[in-house]
Amino acid sequence: MDGAGLLTAEAVHAAVRAELDAVDAAYDRLRATCTDLAGNAFRVEVAGRLEAQHRLNRGLSYRMFGEIAAPVDGCDNPGSPAGVKVRDVLASRLRLTAGEVRRRFRVAARIRPRRSLTGPPVAPELPELADAVNAGELSDDHIAAVCRALDGLPAAVSAAQKEKAERTLVGHARSQDAQFVTAIGTVIADCLNPDGNFTDEDRARRRGLALGRQGPDGMSRLTGWLDPEARAYLEAVGAVVRPGRHHPDGDAERDRRSPEQRCHDAIKLACKTAIASGGLGQHRGAPISVVVTTTLAELEQAARAAVDPAVPMPPSARTGGTGRLPMRELIRLAGESIHYLAVFEDHSARPLYLGRSKRLATTDHRIICHARDRGCTKPNCFVPGCDCEIHHAHEWSAGGPTDADNLFFGCGCDHAAASDGTYTTTVMDDGRIAWSDGTGPPRVNDVHHPERLLDNGEDDDG
Ligand SMILES: [Zn+2]
Repeated sequence: MDGAGLLTAEAVHAAVRAELDAVDAAYDRLRATCTDLAGNAFRVEVAGRLEAQHRLNRGLSYRMFGEIAAPVDGCDNPGSPAGVKVRDVLASRLRLTAGEVRRRFRVAARIRPRRSLTGPPVAPELPELADAVNAGELSDDHIAAVCRALDGLPAAVSAAQKEKAERTLVGHARSQDAQFVTAIGTVIADCLNPDGNFTDEDRARRRGLALGRQGPDGMSRLTGWLDPEARAYLEAVGAVVRPGRHHPDGDAERDRRSPEQRCHDAIKLACKTAIASGGLGQHRGAPISVVVTTTLAELEQAARAAVDPAVPMPPSARTGGTGRLPMRELIRLAGESIHYLAVFEDHSARPLYLGRSKRLATTDHRIICHARDRGCTKPNCFVPGCDCEIHHAHEWSAGGPTDADNLFFGCGCDHAAASDGTYTTTVMDDGRIAWSDGTGPPRVNDVHHPERLLDNGEDDDG
């Protein structure tokens, strides 16, 4: 591109804004147009046009993400403090999750021309897909199906074969739905790798387990892929948990567990044994252990419920990660000395009891943080306690005591922001910590305490 054809930044802003205003105005008129008498054939036509426009819109959006990804000017968002990442600005402006912002950057990086330091831009990693997205021919489902199929090909497949596979997949994506594209991907993989030759590298890329959100019944879905070594370990443990052995009720005679249930019990046994062995080392200075927190009222009710069927069992206690543990399980676990149990005064953050097998000052502090904070204490941060650092409300370097009342959870990011003065923190009368960036009053983080979120709603009404 030669300089004569380039517009100034101001001219580009004006031209693009004018076009977007025209699109907005057209959508306003469309929304105001009544289609009651249009007939379904016409509505199908309109739905098709809207879908095509949506895809064009997405293609343009990926272009913006792709151009942002290699910024020469960093984040020049007016009103954002220096140092704020353009990704964070996008997430809050577009109200997208951090995960979705990352996903869009990842897709954009594969379909946008790549900048080169020495010469003109290099063609995109997936040029065929790039053309189709740019032309507004594909949905996000299509893009995901094409990428998944290509990423599933083993490393042994040549670049030329991969290019051909990309052309074939995108060709089908232009005329079929995403499910069909996935099916074609399987056919191509079988054809290019008939003997199923996969390298260690292929396996390492595919390995992974995803632990789903815990359901209301306390159950969590586990899905994913084990590499051969992990499978060998699991099989070895599975052989120990054979029918009649390691039955949870101890009733070996009537072991009616399915193979799936025994596999589950094998994983549980392996994790429990590994933690009890102490061989897993330390995590942030504390021995790897299960941390559970509850309140005095809940514990008393659970004790009554255990002997009196008329008393309902209270809801679950909280674990140090993001999970919940039914009270019955908690009472059973508490009998085993490897675990920690912290009990709190109701409606406050004052610890009453801390049970543990071994006294370690730093560990006790972490347990209190687990129990009181559950996770990062900065407002609206969801990072769970097990991924947090310990923040001194009065900085230790400034003479703050290393005392549980002065120690709070902060994720790596927020702890750093508090340490460098981006935020100031204050301990409130009830023992919780509040954060402020100087633009508003100090606020506490309630996202790890859903019961408080609901309480606040009532307080506001009152
Ligand atoms: Zn945080």
